Amino acid sequence: MRILLAEPSKIGRSIIVQMLEADGHVVASCATAEQALSMLEGDETIDVLITAIEFLEMSGLELCWSARILAGSQRPLHIVVMSASTDEMKLAEALDTGADDFIGKPPKKTELLARLRSAQRMIDAQKQLIRVASFDSLTNLRNRRVFFEALEEEEKSSSVSSVLVLDVDYFKQVNDRYGHDGGDLVLKEVANRLRKVDPKFARIGGEEFALLVKGPIEQAAVIAETVRREIAVLPIKLPTCEMSTSISVGVAQRMPGTPMNDVMKDADVALYAAKSGGRNRVTLARFSSGTANFSSPEQKTDAA
Ligand code: GH3
Ligand code: MG
Ligand code: MG
Repeated sequence: MRILLAEPSKIGRSIIVQMLEADGHVVASCATAEQALSMLEGDETIDVLITAIEFLEMSGLELCWSARILAGSQRPLHIVVMSASTDEMKLAEALDTGADDFIGKPPKKTELLARLRSAQRMIDAQKQLIRVASFDSLTNLRNRRVFFEALEEEEKSSSVSSVLVLDVDYFKQVNDRYGHDGGDLVLKEVANRLRKVDPKFARIGGEEFALLVKGPIEQAAVIAETVRREIAVLPIKLPTCEMSTSISVGVAQRMPGTPMNDVMKDADVALYAAKSGGRNRVTLARFSSGTANFSSPEQKTDAA
């Protein structure tokens, strides 16, 4: 596991680091709670924080609290507090401020390593839960919930952003011709091609996908056109044959202050226009500051 050790004593640090490294863990260490917090912020791959309570300035308990807030619900961070104190109030306080476990100081090697094995089981289970709750099981793309959470977060931003919504063309016919399993394979391949262009594409419905772009509509239009081409140009291999498919894409821009709901509606209207305009095309929504001009027949990008 990747472990961060926060311990004020140099000797204490080096003894614990040796114990952990001998067991195969990758360990970073620091002497203050402030350093620990900034290291946690800078390295999302840290699984475990082992911290003393007694520091000179920010305390270990404040560190637990801040680290727990930093990790939020999407990052499994296991926090172990070390203290020489046997005061049960202290133990309760540590657990209440966000620690998962408590160990005596100096920690005994066998006990510490066993606690870390138990932590590993919990972290694995938590990672699995986060995966199941956030990713679509067929395509492995982010799911609808994660996409709409990202929109909610973006609503707080004062920068311009864009949304791209796409739908596979005539997908009912794909199912009719190749069966539901064939349809599933096509969806997986479409998802793979979307992922290559941007791993943040989400599956928001049966054969509907979406992406939040942190930039103006021009930037989103380029992405939309890239994925349209990626999907239309190369045939998709099924077990017994090859088939071709296409997508229609609606793109809308959000000016700061506009509710995301309205932006999604704009993107849906643009998607509908792309469908009725003949499919296999990108359509840009009109927005308050005008309509982006991207029409180009060979690029198949229109303005709604
Ligand atoms: P359009 O070009 O207008 O989008 O036509 P369409 O045939 O794609 O129409 P529509 O979007 O209404 O059809 C979606 C179809 O996708 C209907 C549904 O049976 C199918 N579908 C939804 N989810 C899945 C899935 O997970 N797997 C498979 N194989 N099919 C799915
Ligand atoms: Mg659809
Ligand atoms: Mg469709």
